[in-house]
Amino acid sequence: METMRKSVLYSREAIRGRVLELGEEVSSAYEGQNLVVIGVLKGAFIFMADLIRALRIPCRIDFVRLASYGSGTETSGRIELTKDIETDIAGKDVLIVEDIVDTGLTLTYLVENLQARSPRSLKVCAFIDKKLRRKVPFEADFVGFTMDDGFVVGYGLDFDEQGRFLPDVCVLNAEK
Ligand code: 5GP
Repeated sequence: METMRKSVLYSREAIRGRVLELGEEVSSAYEGQNLVVIGVLKGAFIFMADLIRALRIPCRIDFVRLASYGSGTETSGRIELTKDIETDIAGKDVLIVEDIVDTGLTLTYLVENLQARSPRSLKVCAFIDKKLRRKVPFEADFVGFTMDDGFVVGYGLDFDEQGRFLPDVCVLNAEK
């Protein structure tokens, strides 16, 4: 990443404002329900930490980790669950919290996997939606920001494990 230039796409202030709004949207949707928030490691960990602190309703939390085999910045479509949840989600209201929906392949796999465990409801909250890049149709229920193209780092998102610590979301630009 040292050889890449970065420019701020979403500032920490913009992120904070949007996450507070999302917290309100999610709280209204799950009022009086049995909410389990499932974060997708590693990219969603900061977003999820901020999102649940913006809720005004109680929730349980759990995490999954997925491996997708591919090269560079592209998902191959071959996805595997490498860390499962430890919560019984049967009859519960489950909200998956993911960093980015890109091709849609990862979330299609995860939704199908969790749906098989009979939750009462299953929805997805994505921090960033790259709507134009879908390879399979996928619609997130709650979306923080929508972007067209480009590769972003920061706020938990990495490029080859670097850049997660950055408080703003930045676009990587290849050095000319
Ligand atoms: P999908 O299966 O939707 O193509 O893959 C989504 C996953 O690809 C995200 O969870 C994320 O890990 C990764 N990804 C897609 N776009 C970006 C990006 O711009 N930056 C980073 N850091 N990861 C991305």
